Amino acid sequence: MTTKPSRLRRGVASSETAREINRDILLHTIHLHQPVSRADLARLTGLQPSTVSVIIGQLIDEGWVLPGTLGRLPRGRRPTFVTLNDQHVTLAIDLRPGSATLAVVDINGKIVRQEAISISAHGNSKNDLKKSIAKIAKAAQSLRASSGDRLFAGVGVSVSGRVDQKTHQVLFSPNVPWTQIDVHEELQRVLQTPIEMENAANACLLAEQWFGKFGHTSNMIVVSVSEGIGTGLLVDGRLVRGRNDMAGEFGHMPLEDSGTVCGCGNTGCWETFASNRAAIRYYKELVPESKLESFKELLNLAIAGDIRALRSIDKMMAFLGRGLAILVAGLAPEVVIIAGDCTALWSRVCPILESQLIAKSFTSSTPRVVAAMDGDTARLRGAAALVLHKVLFRHSEFEQANQQSAKPAV
Ligand SMILES: [Zn+2]
Repeated sequence: MTTKPSRLRRGVASSETAREINRDILLHTIHLHQPVSRADLARLTGLQPSTVSVIIGQLIDEGWVLPGTLGRLPRGRRPTFVTLNDQHVTLAIDLRPGSATLAVVDINGKIVRQEAISISAHGNSKNDLKKSIAKIAKAAQSLRASSGDRLFAGVGVSVSGRVDQKTHQVLFSPNVPWTQIDVHEELQRVLQTPIEMENAANACLLAEQWFGKFGHTSNMIVVSVSEGIGTGLLVDGRLVRGRNDMAGEFGHMPLEDSGTVCGCGNTGCWETFASNRAAIRYYKELVPESKLESFKELLNLAIAGDIRALRSIDKMMAFLGRGLAILVAGLAPEVVIIAGDCTALWSRVCPILESQLIAKSFTSSTPRVVAAMDGDTARLRGAAALVLHKVLFRHSEFEQANQQSAKPAV
């Protein structure tokens, strides 16, 4: 890899805080360039070689970094390359209406094991929800037990709802009533381990920064498209959180005055036109006798060339693009990342989104529109990134990490 992590080039540590920032910088740089030598780390980060050696020594002692193979140079001593220790894994849980997907994800974002379970789709009682939590815990324990000697760093949960980061309460979750119980507390109790929990779109944004190609981007939007639509917003290097961490619910911006009633109680919300559920509804309008139940089934029909399935997804995407144009006009992102099952049809979906942005743009340039690096598993990697960010990075908080990117740590 030849890209220099310019955003990570900062000054030399002169305090404990700055040393911890330098540690974070080195971890990011190893992740991007591994296997990499200490000399190259010094060159890439702008840190003194002695500082690099001390911090890498600490990371090796702590087990996060492994000394690896010997490199080759035209002359002189052969350097030892270092890599992240992929024995470290997290347990990632993605909570959706009607299902939960669990995975063991390693420090590099590789999904080692994955399992999906169905949970109460219409759990409107606390008892139903607690039963769902118990089912998730059972699956989590078996996944963990089957992962041998891996070192578990923690449990991360991405949820289709907004999570107050002070109280950990799910504050808004119109498509599944997680607000009725303390999901965070319940999961911690049954799994007996600390849990990191975040809105799915925000988690995907963090995953793109840690595992993906956009660690250097200061303005981007992640749009998580599933049963509803959530957005994660990075503006001028800071995650936009808003009052009570509620920012990003663009899925409920009113796109029309009338239409289907939304889970939030209003009508005409963006997600009633552009979510997976909307596409299923469009298909059933074309094929009233259809027994189709899931978006995956619709996708499979579309991939097989079913013209009515394709038309339904095209219509969903036209509405997705229409809403995106509003976000782009207001937030001026450099890149828009789409996370969701729909990216399985990216060669068809992307041109529809781009044409909507071009048609509605008031400037000559529009942002790049890309699929999340890992399509339908983006939310799992997002959940894993929450844990890594907590346990691995000593100094960075989500927004602080980006805020500091503009300033040398001196
Ligand atoms: Zn709504």
